[in-house]
Amino acid sequence: MTETYLVGVDLGGTTIKLAFINMNGVLIEKWEIPTNKKDNTIVEDIAKAIEEKAKSIGILKDQLAGIGMGAPGPVNLETGVVYQAVNLGWENYPLKEKLEQAIGLPAIIDNDANIAALGEMWKGAGQQAKDLICVTLGTGVGGGIIANGEVIHGVRGAGGEIGHITAVPEGGARCNCGKTGCLETIASATGIVRIAIEKMQKIETSILNDLYEQNCKLTAKDVFDAARKQDQAALEVIEEMSFHLGLALANLANGLNPAKIVIGGGVSRGADLFIENVTFYFNKFAFPAVAKGAEIRVATLGNDAGVIGGAWLVKSKIMNQ
Ligand SMILES: [Zn+2]
Repeated sequence: MTETYLVGVDLGGTTIKLAFINMNGVLIEKWEIPTNKKDNTIVEDIAKAIEEKAKSIGILKDQLAGIGMGAPGPVNLETGVVYQAVNLGWENYPLKEKLEQAIGLPAIIDNDANIAALGEMWKGAGQQAKDLICVTLGTGVGGGIIANGEVIHGVRGAGGEIGHITAVPEGGARCNCGKTGCLETIASATGIVRIAIEKMQKIETSILNDLYEQNCKLTAKDVFDAARKQDQAALEVIEEMSFHLGLALANLANGLNPAKIVIGGGVSRGADLFIENVTFYFNKFAFPAVAKGAEIRVATLGNDAGVIGGAWLVKSKIMNQ
């Protein structure tokens, strides 16, 4: 019997991650291609990459069940139209239709943070919990909310936008979305650096000041490294970030009563420094029964979460039809 494979695609602003995954969620082959924004040959590039890779490793097109893909923006799950992807200059872009035409395989499209949440649910830290919140702390803050096994999309595909929960109602920093005081302005890599620059101006003995002078910039990693050396300013940044993340997750969890809360993204590499603090504030602010039912865990799939979640979409939505 020939094996069937699921194709997962994670479309980012600079690279496109692709993978062939078997029915048990095991990565068989994964690779990346650059995102060609300039000529907007993204769909053709993906179709070509999949066809060439399949050929080179001896997989027939008939063995591919379909493509599950994450796009960087809100998506209409039914039509596969990307409402908006600012990074790619797309507006109301019929991604599903174009991709299916280009490759002749069924496709299903969701938001990139949502497919990462599905990946962590299926094969990662979510451990197949049907009620799960996944928050991705990267340059920005993304999120996916899964209730009873289904991703929450809402009427404009903007469900699960955890990064834009208001954390600071008055006088907060400006967010890319146009509001001020969003969680993203605090718990993202950019937010951590912004708070660090504020703190180091107050605490002049901080090693962050030296780093800033040397490199003319700071990174979230600098802040974490400084915190590991017990630098006061860096520890205060982590305290502030943990408070707001714990509070936002608690308020969100009160509406969902999830079993797992998964924290991923590049910033989660510093999770050893903040996970306990976040859990402390989460438990403090969540309704007691909600706090009791939820476990906060660090994501385990890293950059593979998206392609694995895309594969899960093919398995659960396309193959179950
Ligand atoms: Zn915002």
